[in-house]
Amino acid sequence: MDLNRIKFLVVGCGFFGAVIAERIANDLNEKVMIIDKRPHIGGNCYSEKDEETGIFYHKYGTHIFHTSNKTVWNYINNFTEFNGYYHQVLTTYKNKVFQMPINLETINSFYNINLKPYEVDNFLKKEIAKENITNPRNFEEKAISMVGKPLYEAFIKGYTEKQWGKNPKDLPESILKRLPFRKNYNESYFFDRWQGVPSSGYTEIFNKMLNNKNIEIKLDKDFFDIRDSIPDSTFIIYSGAIDRFFDYKFGKLDWRTIVLKKRIAPVEDFQGTSVMNFAEKSIPYTRIHEPKHLHPETKYWNEKTLLIEEYPKSDDGSSPFYPINDPKNKKLFAKYSAEAQKSKNIIIGGRLGDYKYYDMDKTIEMALESYEKRIKRRKGKGKKN
Ligand SMILES: Cc1cc2nc3c(=O)[nH]c(=O)nc-3n(C[C@H](O)[C@H](O)[C@H](O)COP(=O)(O)OP(=O)(O)OC[C@H]3O[C@@H](n4cnc5c(N)ncnc54)[C@H](O)[C@@H]3O)c2cc1C
Repeated sequence: MDLNRIKFLVVGCGFFGAVIAERIANDLNEKVMIIDKRPHIGGNCYSEKDEETGIFYHKYGTHIFHTSNKTVWNYINNFTEFNGYYHQVLTTYKNKVFQMPINLETINSFYNINLKPYEVDNFLKKEIAKENITNPRNFEEKAISMVGKPLYEAFIKGYTEKQWGKNPKDLPESILKRLPFRKNYNESYFFDRWQGVPSSGYTEIFNKMLNNKNIEIKLDKDFFDIRDSIPDSTFIIYSGAIDRFFDYKFGKLDWRTIVLKKRIAPVEDFQGTSVMNFAEKSIPYTRIHEPKHLHPETKYWNEKTLLIEEYPKSDDGSSPFYPINDPKNKKLFAKYSAEAQKSKNIIIGGRLGDYKYYDMDKTIEMALESYEKRIKRRKGKGKKN
C-alpha cells in the first residue's frame, strides 16, 4: 500500500465516506483510496442475502430509506431503484398488537373506547392531570406529562428500559424532546415525501457508487494501523469514532449497541410485518425483524422465513451504534469537536465522527455538503456563495 501517492484518503466505507469518495472520483476526477476495518463496503447499511432462505436482509438492523430532501433523493436514485415499501411499525403488549407510534387506533384499542380525533386532547388532559406533574424532573415524568400513566407504562416504560439499560427515572428529561404521537389513524412511521428499500439491496448502491477506476478500496484495514505512515499532505476524510481519533485524550464517549440474533422460522410468514416491537421488559429483545416484508415486490418461494431478534446493550467500544445524548457525553463531545475544528487537511464526519444519530439521508446530505465546501471549493471549482 503506497501511501505517498495518495492525495485523498477516506476512512470508513459507509455513506459518509462513500459519497465523498464518489464525488472526488467522478466530479473532481481525482484518485482516492477508501479503507475500512470491516471486511465489506457499506458500513452499517450493508445488506446481503441469507444463504438458507435467499432473503435479502440488513446485517446491522433494518434500514428504510426516507427523505424529503430532493437533492439527496435525486443523488441516491443515480445508483438504485427503490421498491414501493412503506414503513409501518407495530408493537406487541400483553399478547395484543398495537400501532406505533401511538395513534388514535392505539388509544382506542388500548382503552377499548371510540374517541374521535377532536376528543383526544381532552381525554389525555384528564389522564395527565391524574398524576399532577407540573415540573417533570426525569424521562419518566416527562413522558407521563405528555401521554398519561397507562399509555406510558404500556408502550414506553419497558421498551425504554430495554433500549437504554436504565430505569427511565434515572434518564434526564432533556433526552425526551417529544413523543411521536398522532391524533388520527395515520399509521405511516415516516412523514417524508419519499421512502422505500433499494430493490437490489444497499450493498449494490455502494458497488455502483464506487465503481470508478479513480477509487481504490482496501478492506480489513484499520486506520490506526497505518496512521503513522500517512504523509502530512494527504487530505483525510475520517468517518470513524472521534474520541478514538484523538486517542481518547479527554475520555471515552459512551455508546449503546445492539446484538442481532438470526433464526429461521419454518413458516412462510411469521409476524406479517417487517418490524414488531415488544413493549414489555419481561421479553428480553426490543424488536423482531422479518426482512422478507421489506421486499413486497419479491416472491420468496419457500416455507421458511428469516427472523432477527434485537437485543440492546452497552457498548465496550467495539460496536458503537447509538450515541448517548446526556449532559456528560454532550460536554465531552464538544471538547473533541473543538479539537477537530483546529485540524487542517481533515474532515471528521458521519455518525461516529459527529457523535450523532443520523438517518441515511442526513448522512448523505452532510457528505455532499462537506465535499462541496471543504474539498471542491478548496480546489477552486465550487460556487463561492
Ligand atoms: C440499528 C440501526 C438502524 C438504522 N435504521 C435506519 C433507517 O431505517 N433509516 C435511516 O435512514 N437510517 C438508519 N440508520 C442510520 C444509518 O445506519 C446511518 O445513517 C449510516 O450508517 C451512517 O453512515 P456513516 O458512514 O456515518 O457510518 P457507518 O455506516 O457506520 O460507516 C462508518 C464506517 O467506518 C468504519 N471505520 C470506523 N473506524 C474505522 C477505522 N479506525 N479504520 C477503518 N474503518 C473504520 C466502520 O467499519 C464503518 O464501516 C440506522 C442505524 C442503526 C444503528
